[in-house]
Amino acid sequence: MSELVIAIDGPAGAGKSTVSKLVAQRLRLSFLDTGAMYRAIALKARRAGLTPADGERAAELGERTEIAFGVGDPQPVYLDGEEVTTQIRVPEIGEFASALSVHPPVRRLLQKRQREIVARGGVVLEGRDTTTVVAPHAQVRVFLTASLEERARRRCAELQAKGQDASFEGVLREIEERDRRDSTREDSPLVHAPDVTELVTDGLSIDEVVDRVIALVPPKTR
Ligand code: C5P
Repeated sequence: MSELVIAIDGPAGAGKSTVSKLVAQRLRLSFLDTGAMYRAIALKARRAGLTPADGERAAELGERTEIAFGVGDPQPVYLDGEEVTTQIRVPEIGEFASALSVHPPVRRLLQKRQREIVARGGVVLEGRDTTTVVAPHAQVRVFLTASLEERARRRCAELQAKGQDASFEGVLREIEERDRRDSTREDSPLVHAPDVTELVTDGLSIDEVVDRVIALVPPKTR
């Protein structure tokens, strides 16, 4: 079993998911999408009639919640045994998850679960706080980013490919707002820690980004 851990951090729309999945495939590691866990809790909280301000109650609910991942692309996500892979991807759940994620009890719960998965090794994990809080000792830590316009363009294309309506201006404002909230929250904000390798992806193809991440893996752990 590989002990290699690769953590990929960065703002919304930087390509973290796409890149992390491909790196995991190429190196035969498992893939942990930490954002999917926030989204799954958000879906359950919303169904239970909570608001994004109900951090304590969402965390309590989360304690009694099983979140599991399957294998596939898109990676199946199970909430208490029910497959919710597509339901958690709608914009409203993204917003709900982002708002819930500012609450320390919610973060503590999910970070603890994520650390347990990381402790087993052999994983690529992605999300805002993975290089700083969840896996600060990962052998490879990358802060993946791109200009706001580039990220908005990519997110727009992604939504349109799924047949969802998306205006460039609307998506840009949404990403800006998400950046602001993720960077200014008190508990584990999105930060580029000084010792984490920054990879700016404007003008790079996905394969080029994947190659650059893999090149950072120390030879002995490959
Ligand atoms: O990455 P994704 O868009 O699926 O994440 C949904 C929301 O969950 C993000 O906007 C972010 O606010 C939150 N999140 C977080 N910490 C993580 C992963 C996601 O706060 N490690």
